[in-house]
Amino acid sequence: MTKNDCIFCKIANGQIPAAALYEDDDFCVILDAGPASRGHALILPKEHFDDLCELDEDIAKKVLPLAARIGKAMKKGLGCAGFNLVQNNGEAAGQTVRHFHVHVIPRYEGGPQIAAWEPGTVSAEEMGNIVEAVKAQL
Ligand code: AMP
Ligand code: ZN
Repeated sequence: MTKNDCIFCKIANGQIPAAALYEDDDFCVILDAGPASRGHALILPKEHFDDLCELDEDIAKKVLPLAARIGKAMKKGLGCAGFNLVQNNGEAAGQTVRHFHVHVIPRYEGGPQIAAWEPGTVSAEEMGNIVEAVKAQL
């Protein structure tokens, strides 16, 4: 199922042109229009899912193998030294387009820092509380 007002549904299904580097029955992989680095790509399922929590399991199983394939091709084709996978869920996490997608971001030797955070601290007690809170919902 696609969603009428969703730009990634339109792109993944060919209604809006994009720089596509891969396509199959389930996915379209395009270049990000606001790249974090040269070759920054987005893996888009053709079907609409708001985010990871909604993603169909059969589609989900194919995402990491496809990401590995894209990443390997970037290393060979673009000469990047590595790549990051980034996948945002919800506005608070930085998701701006509510259609599940995975960023594949090539990383170059000496390139800019992209995803980084200051390591915080956590007590053993707080770790225990967190483990219990999440475990209870699994
Ligand atoms: P996120 O913040 O995880 O939802 O990522 C959305 C990404 O989609 C951003 O990196 C945007 O630059 C990218 N984006 C938005 N619209 C387009 C578009 N029409 N074509 C290509 N990339 C887009
Ligand atoms: Zn969509």
